[in-house]
Amino acid sequence: MLKHNYYGNLGEEGFSKLPLVLQRFLSYTQYNTTSDPKSTTAPSTPFQVEYAKMLKEELESVGLTDVVVTDKAVVMATLPATPGYEECPAMGFIAHMDTSPEASGDPVRWQVLDYQGGDIVLNPEKNIVLTLDRFPNVGKYAGEKLVVTDGTTLLGADDKAGIAIIVETARYFIEHPEVPHAKLCFAITPDEEVGRGTENFDIPAFGADYAYTFDGDELGGFETETFNAAMVNVHFEGLNTHPGSAKNKMINAIRMAMDFIDRFPAESVPEKTEDHEGFFHPIGINGAVRGVDIRMLIRDHDNAKFEDRMQYVRKVVEEMNRVWGNRVTADIRVQYHNLKNYLDNHPVVCDIAREAYRRLGIELHEKPVRGGTDGARLSAMGLPTPNLCTGGMNYHGIFECLSVTGIERSLELGIELGKMSAEVKSLSK
Ligand SMILES: [Zn+2]
Repeated sequence: MLKHNYYGNLGEEGFSKLPLVLQRFLSYTQYNTTSDPKSTTAPSTPFQVEYAKMLKEELESVGLTDVVVTDKAVVMATLPATPGYEECPAMGFIAHMDTSPEASGDPVRWQVLDYQGGDIVLNPEKNIVLTLDRFPNVGKYAGEKLVVTDGTTLLGADDKAGIAIIVETARYFIEHPEVPHAKLCFAITPDEEVGRGTENFDIPAFGADYAYTFDGDELGGFETETFNAAMVNVHFEGLNTHPGSAKNKMINAIRMAMDFIDRFPAESVPEKTEDHEGFFHPIGINGAVRGVDIRMLIRDHDNAKFEDRMQYVRKVVEEMNRVWGNRVTADIRVQYHNLKNYLDNHPVVCDIAREAYRRLGIELHEKPVRGGTDGARLSAMGLPTPNLCTGGMNYHGIFECLSVTGIERSLELGIELGKMSAEVKSLSK
């Protein structure tokens, strides 16, 4: 069924004893699906096309019959409602196939550990150690099974764990026709990590009235809030002369850029903020005396504070233009809005998920995402989509790992939600 020939530290027999959701996940890690932020093609990397084709076979192997892969490598399939439940709103599940370009994703040499607590030596030869002082969250998994890498690549639980959960959720309902459900829609998208996951996502073709992304991390996490986000491009127009005869003539754009950065609060930066605290984040600078460009991110969960931050930039530009003589221009572009703005109009969608966690006895941790999710963009496009957990953690780097209990219980969540879809009569209260 699954194409792979890598059995990690388990051997073929040990591998075959793992829960199927984990077998699927581990076999998916053997496909390189790193996305590329510099690419302008869709998908951004050709291997995602290959992987999408493999996923079509995966979904067909569990019994889905209408699996489609678009020419942009978006995979979609549906499971029709149980007869008598056609009027229930259609529920969707979404995950993404690419892995973060911030770390190598090939070849993934995973290991399944019986974790006894303490630091984890991932790679004795290269002396790569996952330490609890840097990743204290890992300590609580002592006594459980954890999947880690050999410290040379990321693992890809973000978000192949989500894909394995979706495939197994579909399999459950196909193998249990006696369990009623609404129409269930499944999608796997490319290029989420480079901010293009919804670029070619056709909501009418998907067919869901509401959806959940399986793209969170540790068990119990439920995400209904993201940042509001804007990107600022500022240009400082200098005036260059020979430095020997520059007095009262030269205008150094580098000094203007320094002056600009100094006008922002020093505490309001990513490295000094957490939870609901927003920030200004200069991410790029280039130029010379004659001209400098700065790129800066604005992030805030709170709508009013987000507006204030954009206003603050305009005010700084105004002040600088008074001091420097109209040599500063700024372009402020909103990138996405807080997911909560949209979900507040569809409280039922979040309440269904909260109820699923409750029924399964999974302790709920609602926390604001300090970033965006594909769900934020989908919700803005009219498909309300909060984000569920998968059991993974420490994403986008070589210390990424996955709790085996975490992925198994997150799968239970998919199945429970599918069952609950039959209880939903309407999405408006
Ligand atoms: Zn992700």
